[in-house]
Amino acid sequence: MIFYVMSRLKSLFNEKGFYELDFIGKISMGELYRCPECDTPIAIKPTLPPFNIKLKGKNFGDLCAGVCYEFLVSKRFAALWKESGLMGLEILDYPVNIKKTGKFKNIDTPEYIMVRPDVTLTHLNEKESGLIIKDSAGCNKCKLSTRKKVERLRIDESTWDGQDIFYLSGLYGVLVVTEKFVEFVEKHQFTNFVLVHQDDYNE
Ligand SMILES: [Zn+2]
Repeated sequence: MIFYVMSRLKSLFNEKGFYELDFIGKISMGELYRCPECDTPIAIKPTLPPFNIKLKGKNFGDLCAGVCYEFLVSKRFAALWKESGLMGLEILDYPVNIKKTGKFKNIDTPEYIMVRPDVTLTHLNEKESGLIIKDSAGCNKCKLSTRKKVERLRIDESTWDGQDIFYLSGLYGVLVVTEKFVEFVEKHQFTNFVLVHQDDYNE
């Protein structure tokens, strides 16, 4: 399987001015995701409803990203996702309350749905990805570490459960998708997805 990195940051700070997601008011967080073997946190806490947000930008894309693990997708994306047979995205069926401020006050806002990718214990093939570890924090199950360098993305497929979108435990904070996910985005021309081929990814 060919994998891609979905860059939430590049979508958040996009050049085309697509709307970005910002939570407002009191935010409820869930429990930390932890490795079942060594108890090390493998991801930040999930954001829980109510989803009170504001949007900043100029154009409505099919994706509105923020700094949280969750993100907003258009109603069209959510509907087609449900029919797609792809796996790894939880559709959070709670209202998204969008506060409109300033000059955007009178703009009609399309309906958005909050989604959360799976947090998994999938990790890298460390040798093939050229991972240089700074400090190891986890165990063999989660492979959690801080990194000096990653030359490319190579998933250890024996640790992958077949999701088409997921956070890795062995590459903290990085969101990975399959080529099937990329085909889905291209086929329906969803906007504001920045997808980096596994050979072109490095940090
Ligand atoms: Zn662990």
